[in-house]
Amino acid sequence: MKNLFSTKQLRVILAVFAIAVFAANVSFAQELTKANIEAAINEAYEKFKNVSEGKNADYIPALAEVNSNIFGIALVTVDGQVYEKGDINDKVSIQSISKVFTMAMVIDDLGPQAIMDKVGVDATGQVFNSITAIEQYRGKEMNPCVNPGAIATTSLVKGSNYDEKWNNIMTAFDGFAGTKLEVNQPVYVSEAETNQRNQAIAHLLFAYERMYFDPVQSTDIYTKQCAINVNAKDLSMMASTLANGGVNPVTKKSIVSAETVEHVLPVMVTAGLYDDSGIWVYKTGLPGKSGVGGGIIAVAPGKCGIAVISPPLDAAGNSVKAQYVIQYLSEKLGLNMYSIQPKK
Ligand code: GLU
Repeated sequence: MKNLFSTKQLRVILAVFAIAVFAANVSFAQELTKANIEAAINEAYEKFKNVSEGKNADYIPALAEVNSNIFGIALVTVDGQVYEKGDINDKVSIQSISKVFTMAMVIDDLGPQAIMDKVGVDATGQVFNSITAIEQYRGKEMNPCVNPGAIATTSLVKGSNYDEKWNNIMTAFDGFAGTKLEVNQPVYVSEAETNQRNQAIAHLLFAYERMYFDPVQSTDIYTKQCAINVNAKDLSMMASTLANGGVNPVTKKSIVSAETVEHVLPVMVTAGLYDDSGIWVYKTGLPGKSGVGGGIIAVAPGKCGIAVISPPLDAAGNSVKAQYVIQYLSEKLGLNMYSIQPKK
């Protein structure tokens, strides 16, 4: 029987087939399929579970007492699928991650211009609780992800008294998380007893007319907001609500507008991981926010929210394991916002 194709034709056919298989695999590796997500999370968990670098925060005494071995990973896609691994029931205080969500509330309420005018949206280039930064800019050019800007942002939350503001915060946070959250009382009490520096920050801002409610009460509401207890799933749901343009992917409730999210994510990019925000974005390509309780969230816009909890922190104040895991997941699942497929 005569050959259907010449050797040369066969080579061309094989080459085209190989390229097609390669291309399919490349795009497959970047698809958020159930199998890919589960595999990536399992790999990350195994790869990093024995990392022993870092140390719990201890400037808030109660945080030093938290079990350093807690290691929980959660990812929620914008269509509401939930993936969890590790210590998923263990809760820690949300700490600075809360700053993102009060910022979202205030932008949603007062509009994006107001937060620029009244707080600022630039990285201060100083540590998160810097008093020098306030002095340098006379209370201006803060941002809602560092303490001065965050306390000012809390002072802007809707409500004419302490209780109204606090209730609005709890309602919004419950909405972001899609569940009823609670305050970790020991952490709240411990921080309230030792937050003289934050009180000083609030009073200094007040002197510069950059506090918009009583400084003592604003600092207390801020301290309580930082003590809200969350597990990895709660945090990833909150992150996924941002990834989904402000609509909780499971309850389907709209918590903030898509326009608000558009303004929240850039602040996370520039100031979400303290002084290491640049390194974080360089490695993950994702807006993120860390807290000294040991959590980090990352938002992959239009795709998913990720959260990892592991209390030991590095020198910059960011959870060591959480950074490793999220960087790994970003690479494995093709989440980097800046990765571009060139048009040929
Ligand atoms: N409540 C903490 C503080 O104000 C939050 C710090 C953080 O997580 O970065 O110091």
